[in-house]
Amino acid sequence: MIRRKKQRIIKLTLGFLILYLLWSGFLFLRYSSPKPSHAAPNPLEIVGIYHVHSTFSDGTKTPEKIANIAAGQDLDFFILTDHGRPNFDSLASEGWQQGVLLLAGSELSVNRGHLVGLGFETPLQPFSQTAELAAAQIAQAQGFTVIAHPYSKVHWTWGKYAGYSGIEIISTDTILRKNFIRLLPILPLIPLKPRIPVLKLLQHPSRNLRKWDELCREFPIYGFYSCDAHLWYGPLFSSLRLHVLLDSALPEDFTEARKTVYAAIKRGRFFNAVDAAAPSQGFRFWGQGQDGSIDMGGTTSQLPLLLQIQAPPALAREVRLLQDGRIIQCTTEERISFEATQTGTYRVEIYLREPTPMTQDCPWILSNPIFIRKN
Ligand SMILES: [Zn+2]
Ligand SMILES: [Zn+2]
Repeated sequence: MIRRKKQRIIKLTLGFLILYLLWSGFLFLRYSSPKPSHAAPNPLEIVGIYHVHSTFSDGTKTPEKIANIAAGQDLDFFILTDHGRPNFDSLASEGWQQGVLLLAGSELSVNRGHLVGLGFETPLQPFSQTAELAAAQIAQAQGFTVIAHPYSKVHWTWGKYAGYSGIEIISTDTILRKNFIRLLPILPLIPLKPRIPVLKLLQHPSRNLRKWDELCREFPIYGFYSCDAHLWYGPLFSSLRLHVLLDSALPEDFTEARKTVYAAIKRGRFFNAVDAAAPSQGFRFWGQGQDGSIDMGGTTSQLPLLLQIQAPPALAREVRLLQDGRIIQCTTEERISFEATQTGTYRVEIYLREPTPMTQDCPWILSNPIFIRKN
C-alpha cells in the first residue's frame, strides 16, 4: 500500500517535471533574440540607463564592472544613483569608462521618500532631508530632481510641487518586490535567457501613468523608465533604456558630454523603451506649428499644432496618442500626423504586437510629452 503511494508520488513528480521542462523549453525556443533594428545608427540618438547602484551604496558591482557591462551592450551612457545626500564617492567616479559615459547623481532619502538628484555640481555640505529644500538646493547647484519609485515599499508622500523635473514610471525596484512570486517558476531561465524573466515581470504601470498625467496638468514633468539595478545589471540594462535626442554628436570632452546629456534629459528630449523586447531606435515625436517645430519635452502656445509621430519601422505595433491621459488616436501605422487644436499635454505610448515575452499591455515605447499651453 505504502509502496504504491510512493510510486504514485514519484510518477506525479516526474510528470510535473516533464511538463515544467516542456513549458520552459517552449519559452526558451519561442523567443529568439529581438529582431535587429531597421533604423540606421544615428549619433544624435544616444542610448543609456538611468538609476543604477554600485558598490558605493547597495549595488553588487563596482562602477568599472558596470561600465564593462554597458560597453558590452554598446550603450552610450549610464547614470549611477547611489544612496547618499549626495554619495560623494560615487560622484568622484564620473568619467569616460571603456567608451561609455559614466555619470553619477545620487538617490537621496528624504522625508517624502526617495528623490534622485541629477546633473548637480558637487556640494560642500550634504543636501537637506526635507524634499522641498533638497530639490531647491539641487536646482541651485545646476541640477534637477526625479521622484523615485513613488508606489514602491519606500513610497512617495505627495506634497507641494517643488520643481521636480521627473517621475519614475516603471521601476524594477517596485516590480521585483511586488512580483517576486511570479518570478519563481521562470527562475531557472535566468542563466539561459536572462532577458525573459525581466520582460515577463513588466506590467502596465497604470498608477504611475495616472499620477504623471495628473501632475502634467499643472507642471511640465518628465517620465522615466528606471532600472534601479543593484544586481542583474546585464538583463536590466538590455530592458529599460532611455533614448536621448541630441542636436549635435556627443562631445569627446567629458565635462561637455556630461553637460550635453543632462541638458537634453532635463528638457525631456528623450523617450523610454524596452529594447530587450524589440529595438526602438528611430522613434520620433514632434510638433509642427506656424512659427516652427517643437521637440518632444517642449512647451508651446502654437495652435493648431501638427503633432507628428514616427514609429520604428517593420514591427507590428499599436501607436496611441494621448491628450491629458485620454487616448485620442490609436493606429498601427508607421507615420502619424494629428492636428492638435486644443491646449493639453500630448504624449505617445507604443505597444508591441509582435510575440515577445513582455506582456502586451506594457508600453514598449513611452515618449515624453509636448505641452500646449495658453500664453
Ligand atoms: Zn529607492
Ligand atoms: Zn535606487
